[in-house]
Amino acid sequence: MLQLTELDSLPEGFFALNSPRELHTLMPNPTLLHLQGRREPCLFISVLLHGNEDTGFFAVQQLLRKYQGQVLPRSLSIFFGNVEAATFGKRRLDGQPDYNRVWPGTDMEDCDETRLMAQITEIMVEKNLFASIDVHNNTGKNPHYGCINVLDNRSLQLARLFSNIAVYFETPRGIQSMAMAQYCPAVTIECGKPGVAHGIEHVLEFLDAVLHLQDLSDHPLPPHDINLYQTVARVTLPEEYAFSFSNTAADIHLLPALDRYNFSELPAGTVFAHSNHPQANLQAWDDENVEVSEHFFTREQGKICLKLPLMPAMLTLDESIIRQDCLCYLMKRLPWE
Ligand SMILES: [Zn+2]
Repeated sequence: MLQLTELDSLPEGFFALNSPRELHTLMPNPTLLHLQGRREPCLFISVLLHGNEDTGFFAVQQLLRKYQGQVLPRSLSIFFGNVEAATFGKRRLDGQPDYNRVWPGTDMEDCDETRLMAQITEIMVEKNLFASIDVHNNTGKNPHYGCINVLDNRSLQLARLFSNIAVYFETPRGIQSMAMAQYCPAVTIECGKPGVAHGIEHVLEFLDAVLHLQDLSDHPLPPHDINLYQTVARVTLPEEYAFSFSNTAADIHLLPALDRYNFSELPAGTVFAHSNHPQANLQAWDDENVEVSEHFFTREQGKICLKLPLMPAMLTLDESIIRQDCLCYLMKRLPWE
C-alpha cells in the first residue's frame, strides 16, 4: 500500500544527502513537506516524479540550505515523488505507473498512485496555492523551457520567469501541471539533462525568484518576449519493427544525431530515418490518441521525412525511453496577438 508522509519540518540529515538515491533513508514514502514562510498562500513544488530526474532535488536542497535558520519569503510545500525509483536512478520501476500521468484528470484507472496524487491535490487546494512548479529533466539535447496547459497570462508570466521558450499542450493527461492549473498558475519546467550543475543553478534562481514574488501579473507578455509552441503530435516507433540509431540494417534506422533537431523549426522534407522495409514508418498520434502518421511523415526512396514544416521537442537517443514513452513531440509555433 502506497502511503503519503506529511512533514512540517525538514528531516535531520537532508543537507548531507549526496543524491536522490539516498533520499529513501530519510523519506521512505512519497513525502509532502510543508514549510512556513512570511507570505501566504504557498508555493507548491514537486520533484522526482521521475526518479532519475535529479535537478529538481538538488535545486530544492540548495534553496533550503540558503534559507537555513531564516524565514522563507513565502510558505512552501514540496512533494518528493517517486522516492523508490530514485533509489535506483530510474524514471519509474517496473510495475509502477508513470508518476506524471496519474494526477487528477488522468485517463488511467484508479490505483494507489492516482489516489495518492488526488490526496495531495486535495491537501494543496485546501491550503490555497500561489503557484505550482513541477521540475523535470529530459534525456535528449534540449534547451530549458516551460510547459503550460492553460493559455492564460499568469501561467505565461510564470513560465517566462524560467525561459523565453514555452510549450502549450493538452495531452498526455494526468500530468501535475494540468491538475494544478485548475487552481493556480502552474508550469512544468524542463531543465536539460540530469546531473548538470548549470541546470541546478538555473532552477534554483527561478524557484528563489518565484518565492520572492508578491504576485503574478495578469498582463499579457509582449509578443516578442516569448516563443510559444503547441504540441500537435506525439511520435512513436511501431512495436512490430526493430529500430536503431547505429544498426543500418534495422527496419528503421534513425539518424544518429537526431536530437540536434530539438527546438529547430524544420522544413518539410527533413529526413528522420532510413528504412529498407517497404511499410515501416514513424507513427504520429494526435491529442485524442488517433493515429495521424500520414499527416506528418512521408516516405521517399527509403527515407522517412517530415511532411510539414514543424519543430520537434524532446527527441531522445535513448532506445528504452523511446519504447517506454516516445521518440519526440512535434510542435507548431502559436500565432500571438
Ligand atoms: Zn520527467
